[in-house]
Amino acid sequence: MSEAETAQRCPFCRIAAGTLPSEQIYHDETVVGFRDLNPQAPLHVLVIPRRHVRGINAPEAEDGALLAAMVRAANQIAREQGVAESGYRLVWNVGPDAGQSVFHLHLHVLGGRQFGWPPG
Ligand code: 5GP
Ligand code: ZN
Repeated sequence: MSEAETAQRCPFCRIAAGTLPSEQIYHDETVVGFRDLNPQAPLHVLVIPRRHVRGINAPEAEDGALLAAMVRAANQIAREQGVAESGYRLVWNVGPDAGQSVFHLHLHVLGGRQFGWPPG
């Protein structure tokens, strides 16, 4: 599949491009942060790279600059949304056992309630 075809089919490529509506609360030149459609906590934001990467286990994800941009965005979102002090959880789901359902790299930023450990 060409890059253009991937971008047309992938929902998160479309969100990054603005052709699929989302509630974006963060963006910079590398990543976008938007509210999850089916929130699992009072704060549930997904941070994605603008370029298509299929998951954290893809070779392109093992890039220091990209990972730093994602973590920086997640931490800034947590501060801006008021959960930096109360705490928050950052999650990368990888593959079937973890329930990954969208194959465009995304970092979950969850906050605003207490989370159990071990995770369900
Ligand atoms: P995963 O299970 O792959 O780690 O997480 C995918 C997440 O994307 C889910 O929490 C799901 O609710 C969210 N999601 C899927 N499609 C859309 C969409 O079109 N818009 C938004 N805002 N979130 C989506
Ligand atoms: Zn994509």
